[in-house]
Amino acid sequence: MPNTTSPESTVPLRAAVAALPAYVPGASGSAGQVWKLSSNENPYSPLPSVLSAIVEAAGDVNRYPDMYATELVDALAGHVGVETERVVVGNGSVAVLQHVLQAVVEPGDEVVFPWRSFEAYPIAVAVAGGRAVTVPVTQDGRLDLPAMAAALTPRTRVVLVCTPNNPTGPAVRADELETFLAVVPRDVLVVLDEAYLEFVRDPQVPDGVDVLRRNPNVVLLRTLSKAYGLAGLRVGYAVAEPRLAAGIRAVSTPFGVSHVAQRAALASLAPTAQAELLERVDALVAERTRVADALREQGWDLPETQANFVWFGLGDATTACAAQATAAGVLVRPFAGDGLRVSIGEVEANDAFLAVARSWRRG
Ligand SMILES: *Cc1c(COP(=O)(O)O)cnc(C)c1O
Repeated sequence: MPNTTSPESTVPLRAAVAALPAYVPGASGSAGQVWKLSSNENPYSPLPSVLSAIVEAAGDVNRYPDMYATELVDALAGHVGVETERVVVGNGSVAVLQHVLQAVVEPGDEVVFPWRSFEAYPIAVAVAGGRAVTVPVTQDGRLDLPAMAAALTPRTRVVLVCTPNNPTGPAVRADELETFLAVVPRDVLVVLDEAYLEFVRDPQVPDGVDVLRRNPNVVLLRTLSKAYGLAGLRVGYAVAEPRLAAGIRAVSTPFGVSHVAQRAALASLAPTAQAELLERVDALVAERTRVADALREQGWDLPETQANFVWFGLGDATTACAAQATAAGVLVRPFAGDGLRVSIGEVEANDAFLAVARSWRRG
């Protein structure tokens, strides 16, 4: 019940907080058949083995979770192929990114990142007290790493490299990343946000762990939200040089990953479950190819996507096109005045979307 009598607070918010843009979640549907292609979610429901792990773990929620998520950290370290001391988990990789920034950014330090990119970045940077320095992506939606290198100043503390880039789709290749890292000072942190790693099929995309081993100023950000289908349980992690990892761990929210989430993540990393989950990723990648081919046939010239979504740089037509999609029962993610992102979902959802895209072309 709204309380109309209590007075409004006069406690000042930090200027950086008062100025924050709100995070806009992808639209969600209610009535009728609605296909949700607005949040890059995995369309498959949890595997039976993961669901039973969740149900079983639910019986223990009167207890705090394992604070250090010991078993999960071990499993992730084994999964990635690094020492456990290099792994830090958190309540989704967005929270882990926040902790990374809190661990290294002093007030006023510059954080360079591409734009348009993940909309959590400007918020995370401002919350950490950093100054956002944005570098436009190229016409074909690729990160402009030479321009990002040129944007470095003595105040730069962190560079965020989103690969594949959300929402445009292309991934950074090994040669361009090497050239970039060669000019980044060793005391500037480079965050490789690999949220869509498992969907990448371009053989020229580098192995993040190999990059990290040769460059101790690199941090990898990964998540179980997308390929592993656990977006609703919030499990993300960073892989970093041990001293940096300890710093990130030190600022992390205590008990940040719930017991249910830890058990679900462990069940997902079990060999048979993992194989099944990666088969689903293969199916989504096949759908991505089918959708991209069909769109090209419709006459669209879109950025190359290595993720589970496609990007339409529709400019001023964005909002109207999104409304048309909603009316047709397909929820997409518009960025007003710029473009629109559409996730790859189940076959029927993708078919419904392809019909919408055809209608956009007819105007
Ligand atoms: C979806 C996404 C994430 C994952 O966020 P979680 O908090 O782990 O759910 C991270 N980075 C990018 C670029 C994303 O698109």
